[in-house]
Amino acid sequence: MPECHGKRLRKEALAVKFDGRDIAEMARLPLKQLAVIMEWYATGRAFKKKEIEFHPERVAVAQQIAQNLYARLSLLLDLGLGYLLMERSSPTLSPGELQRLRLATQIYSNLFGVVYVLDEPSAGLHPADIAALLRALDKLKAAGNSLFIVEHDLDVIRHAEWVVDVGPGPGDQGGQVLYSGELPGLAKVSASSTRRYLFCEERMPYREPRKPHGWFILEGIARNNLNQLDVAFPLGVFVTVTGVSGSGKSSLVSQAVVDLLSARLGYEAPAPEEGEELRQPEPVNESGKITAGMENIKRLVVVDQKPIGRTPRSNLATYTGLFDHVRQLFAATKMAKARRYDAGRFSFNVPKGRCATCQGEGSVMIELLFLPSVYAPCPTCHGARYNAKTLEIVYRDKNIADVLAMTVDEAKAFFQEEPPLQRSLDVLREVGVGYLRLGQPAPELSGGEAQRIKLATELQRAGKGYTLYILDEPTTGLHPADVDKLMIQLNSLVDAGNTVIVVEQDMRMVASSDWVIDIGPGAGDEGGKIVAAGPPSKVATIKESKTAPYLAAFIGN
Ligand SMILES: [Zn+2]
Repeated sequence: MPECHGKRLRKEALAVKFDGRDIAEMARLPLKQLAVIMEWYATGRAFKKKEIEFHPERVAVAQQIAQNLYARLSLLLDLGLGYLLMERSSPTLSPGELQRLRLATQIYSNLFGVVYVLDEPSAGLHPADIAALLRALDKLKAAGNSLFIVEHDLDVIRHAEWVVDVGPGPGDQGGQVLYSGELPGLAKVSASSTRRYLFCEERMPYREPRKPHGWFILEGIARNNLNQLDVAFPLGVFVTVTGVSGSGKSSLVSQAVVDLLSARLGYEAPAPEEGEELRQPEPVNESGKITAGMENIKRLVVVDQKPIGRTPRSNLATYTGLFDHVRQLFAATKMAKARRYDAGRFSFNVPKGRCATCQGEGSVMIELLFLPSVYAPCPTCHGARYNAKTLEIVYRDKNIADVLAMTVDEAKAFFQEEPPLQRSLDVLREVGVGYLRLGQPAPELSGGEAQRIKLATELQRAGKGYTLYILDEPTTGLHPADVDKLMIQLNSLVDAGNTVIVVEQDMRMVASSDWVIDIGPGAGDEGGKIVAAGPPSKVATIKESKTAPYLAAFIGN
């Protein structure tokens, strides 16, 4: 807007200034800088002698407000959020940032006797930020509260005074409390797979880094806090990009590289997702170009945590394509042939075979006046999704609904004589989702599960080469044992002639990669530069890198 210049307020409001800035200018400062100003006023150093003499009441009020603000701001800085601008709109914050903002509000409230439940507060945090998080959690505890934390990060687990280990396996193979007690006692529980990572040597065995078969070079990248950055990614190897939260690593990989490469490969820009169009447009300061490496990249695949589908009609079996093969098996049975049922008959998205009452949804929506609608199992098919005639067809004593109810592990045993299905089921098991049901509706899957299903789908197409895979923090929500499985799969993509670039905080994964690019050194204005680039053993020795000391602890001899 020409009138307010995007400041959203009228002239009169903007005429009021504090420390020479109006409220809109104030809101555009990073919290860290705002804290410096507030400290200046909170301690009284900012006031002139004359002011103190003639308007002591004004000084007292300003000092009081500044002290109050400074106390709140220092909590946010403690939590590693000093790079955020006050005007940053909440939909653009990452889940981890939001969780830490809520945490700061709780610490400031000075409540006691509260039980706080946190789900993976370390998600997306650099080890240096995790140390800050633990200090904040200690404050909550010291104030007389209890903290129940669901967590995979070993440093957070080691910090706890009481550990409950649930398992031993995922899904049906889990659900038992293996241990509940102080940390050292877990060392004796042989069934625990957490134990292995908590008490054993963490260093990764040394592996000679792969030799790149080319370089992908970008120049003059400007975006968020990246300013005219030049960067070179080695191709045909496993690359990890590290840096503290807010350093600009996601801006570089998940935004700049993805946008520039998509445009060059002629991909269409993805349509904005539901809700995303409400976000404020980012300031237009984007630039950058690809100057080398295109001859070695034929395809870009972003394996992200977005859902594999938005309706209960998509599921693991339909997404990976293995359901097509299952439907053909049913259509090939004697009884199906006699009745002239084709593969389409066994799709719950096609009218002829599905339940007419729920149209293949398996559930019906009940609209309630003044209340949100609820879903109830379909009264006709009881959730089977198909009509009775379709369900009469059995393949080795199981009907199509029975197959959808199987877990990946069960299906692997059931379809032993079907090599094409075995391949799909094997990769799903290898990425660690063997416990999911084939028909599990997409909206029920977590972001991490969706990401691993996408990865499995890619792995099935193995042997292509010249593909660049991008993953943003794929270890979020994964147990160290699952991280190991994931690494085996990513390495197999690289061995097939592809390039994998992973934005990652998990030092186990970083230590076992071929090449590390560390962005920083700090967050926001203090980040956005390449601090170190090279094999992990070299990056671990760079003094300026905040990642180096944490990485060094994992580097093998
Ligand atoms: Zn039904």
